[in-house]
Amino acid sequence: MNHGVYVLDASAIIGGFISKKDNFVTASVVNEIKDLKSKISLEAAIEDGSIKIIEPDASDLREVGKVIKESGDILRLSGVDIKLVALGYKLKRESLNPTVVTDDYSMQNVLKIIGIPYRSVLTNGINEVYGWIKICKGCKTKYPPEYESGECEICGTRIIKRRIKNP
Ligand SMILES: [Zn+2]
Repeated sequence: MNHGVYVLDASAIIGGFISKKDNFVTASVVNEIKDLKSKISLEAAIEDGSIKIIEPDASDLREVGKVIKESGDILRLSGVDIKLVALGYKLKRESLNPTVVTDDYSMQNVLKIIGIPYRSVLTNGINEVYGWIKICKGCKTKYPPEYESGECEICGTRIIKRRIKNP
């Protein structure tokens, strides 16, 4: 079984990255979401089952904790971050195919070591450099300018370029 799922951190939810199905978060990520708009879309997604709240096992936290200690990322990661990486580890252990969606470089570094795929939410940094983004005509998911495929990886709709207004 090789089933693709997404593990979302708070920046992914705030950035509007919720795939149509099979998104996972921990309860502590839900607690991190404070702004009303993100809260509403998160609650709707939890209600319709497209986001599920799952916690990693103690054994997952132990294994991930070892890697983090060795990589030197321990001081840069919050308890919420570590739990989320451990959730990715748990899903992989259960033969799912998780991609963790996060803009956090320390998390990305640890995920790389463990061998779990990750992707960035669109960051402000990218906006400032390029002045335009790619966006799905269907589900409105945003992609960085260097995203090569012409199709949305979430819903399969065509991706178009869009200029970003100056802030
Ligand atoms: Zn789409």
